[in-house]
Amino acid sequence: MSRPYNFSAGPAALPEAVLKQAREELLDWNGAGASVLELSHRGPEFMRAAEKAEADLRTLLSVPDDYAVLFLQGGATTQQALIPLNFAAPGQAADYVLTGHWGATAIKQAQPYVDARIAADTADGGYRGLPMRADWALSEGAAYVHYTANETIHGVEFNEIPEVGDVPLIGDFSSSIASGPLDVSRFGVIYAGAQKNLGPVGLTVVIIRRDLLTQTGQARAPILDYAAHERAGSMLNTPPTFNWYLAGLMFQWMLDEGGVEEFARRSAVKSQLLYAAIDGSGGFYRNTVERTARSRMNVVFSLHDENLDARFLEQARAAGLISLKGHRVLGGMRASIYNAMPVSGAQALADFMADFQQRNG
Ligand code: PMP
Repeated sequence: MSRPYNFSAGPAALPEAVLKQAREELLDWNGAGASVLELSHRGPEFMRAAEKAEADLRTLLSVPDDYAVLFLQGGATTQQALIPLNFAAPGQAADYVLTGHWGATAIKQAQPYVDARIAADTADGGYRGLPMRADWALSEGAAYVHYTANETIHGVEFNEIPEVGDVPLIGDFSSSIASGPLDVSRFGVIYAGAQKNLGPVGLTVVIIRRDLLTQTGQARAPILDYAAHERAGSMLNTPPTFNWYLAGLMFQWMLDEGGVEEFARRSAVKSQLLYAAIDGSGGFYRNTVERTARSRMNVVFSLHDENLDARFLEQARAAGLISLKGHRVLGGMRASIYNAMPVSGAQALADFMADFQQRNG
């Protein structure tokens, strides 16, 4: 019996090949006589795996040499607090572009340290679109501009990198990293919790233009200092070794599958299948995000009658489609279709939606 298609928003599905490899290697990792969970992070086995993971991620994302790649703990939320601490003077202005729930979280985490200003937002429209670049009110002397590349809950995604001039651009790519080619050189910092497109929860990838690591920022302990983490090779303290290892398997898998160009192609196919199912349903299913802002990663939809929600979820599960319940902030449904979701999964969901409508329309 094959496993169901899992549309969880994060922690999200991992490729079966990755899970099987981890299972096979669990008791005796590469002849080390112990599992990766039981070995020192400074031992030769783990050091090799850690270095390979970084090299593979650099290849996958085409990270230029003048960018550091850090493997940290604390999730994306912790980075949202570390960013002002590391890159802004106390109380300095920092611009935030707010297109959904996670942008608001970023502002909340930064507020104790900077004058966090909302340069543009789409709150009035219920976060259903993207603010026109021409309307952004960027501050004089801002330390950086922060935006959320893909809003995981609202299902809104930027389809291009905003131009902000010489101010460092900081992007939260937690739910869209590695889903397509990205010009890293346009950014000061890119950060992403790994539990969606990159694999396991418990690991956060932070990509930082190296010149920013010399900034004074604000008083902080070494453990909150990106430069200290960089100098220590992300081993300032004990790193989450299993998660790092598992992410490494995922990076290798993504390279073997054809890299980010291939995932961009699959993401377009998967998301178009689902949006077509919604748009072609005559209002039985609804997605209210402006078409040009629709996320390729998180397809948010509601049924025309919420009394059908429980039946939809139950029958979906019976059809081998799990974790479709929407986030509590919006209700309804959400299908997250990250890199580990095959096209056949999106097709199966689209087919199920048509079938469910026929039986309940
Ligand atoms: N930003 C985005 C876009 C997210 O989707 C999430 C988590 N769903 C976060 C930030 C917060 O991440 P974490 O739970 O890793 O702190």
